[in-house]
Amino acid sequence: MNVQPCPAPCLAIVVPCYNESEIFPVCLTELGNCLRTMVEGGLISPESYLLFVDDGSRDDTWAQINTAVTRHAYVRGLKLSCNKGHQAALLSGLAHADGADIIVSIDADLQDDTAAIEKMVRAYLGGHDVVYGVRSCRQADTAFKRITAEMFYRLMTAMGVRQVFNHADFRLLSSRARDALLEYRERNIYIRGLIPLIGFPSTEVHYDRRERTAGVSKYPLHKMIALALEGITSMTVTPLRLITLGGFCISFMSVLAIVVVLINKIAGNPIQGWASVIVAIFFIGGIQMLSLGIIGEYIGKIYLETKQRPRFHIEEKEGFHSRILTLTQKYK
Ligand code: UDP
Ligand code: MG
Repeated sequence: MNVQPCPAPCLAIVVPCYNESEIFPVCLTELGNCLRTMVEGGLISPESYLLFVDDGSRDDTWAQINTAVTRHAYVRGLKLSCNKGHQAALLSGLAHADGADIIVSIDADLQDDTAAIEKMVRAYLGGHDVVYGVRSCRQADTAFKRITAEMFYRLMTAMGVRQVFNHADFRLLSSRARDALLEYRERNIYIRGLIPLIGFPSTEVHYDRRERTAGVSKYPLHKMIALALEGITSMTVTPLRLITLGGFCISFMSVLAIVVVLINKIAGNPIQGWASVIVAIFFIGGIQMLSLGIIGEYIGKIYLETKQRPRFHIEEKEGFHSRILTLTQKYK
């Protein structure tokens, strides 16, 4: 029997960029080299490409992407109409990775090790649809970022959310895993929580996280908190259950308190003073406000989901027309 060798898969590397003007040239060179090495090694097809998504940057990131598209046939660019956030930018890139058999998503700042991409592709060729990039060492992150991130992973696990520890959005998806992800139509999007729900064979590739090569983090504290809240409310209703549990415990304690008060009354020594009563009122009042806030957060999410608004708008697309070039022309 004549067995045809499997053609090398077409790889798209999706890179969300927000105000990444400083790092872009380095990122383009490093990812371009990475792609070229794999194409020349016959690991991926010569049609493989880089897809930069400009998430409404206010600096010249889009101008630089455009120049890269005109100079290199292996570069494509997508411009969102305004800043929609990392998750939406990533999703738009995944949705527009036309013709790719495999898609790797990576941040523009090159904190994630590009050498791990080849290992991911090999894991795909070994039969895995999802390959998670897992940080084995995060010493390059600030202590605050590392501690809060690890606390968040543990909190999510405690609430029953399946999430790969120390994995963010550096991963490989096969085209069928990507298609499955795009079937999740929610606006409240937390990609790293959805991937484990998709199923399909998966594995991990470990790497050391580096420091940002240039520029500053585009994830200030308020964006980190917003992502954490998005993650919790999108993946679990445990906080609502905790409210019920808290209400149950407080009711039980108040029944005990009533019994104690009655026993004291019957015994002829009623409790003096109202300070304890005031403290209890404030305590219960605080718990109620907090509970209403958490419930409100979920109702707000339902409200936003019912609108079914688009998750992003594409303003410009560059480099998507098919360009048939030889390998040397393409990787010039
Ligand atoms: N990013 C984005 N939109 C945003 C914020 C960030 O597309 O609103 C991109 C950013 O350009 C980078 C990636 O998301 O490629 C991760 O951001 P960053 O490296 O600043 O986050 P950190 O590593 O500090 O968590
Ligand atoms: Mg970063």
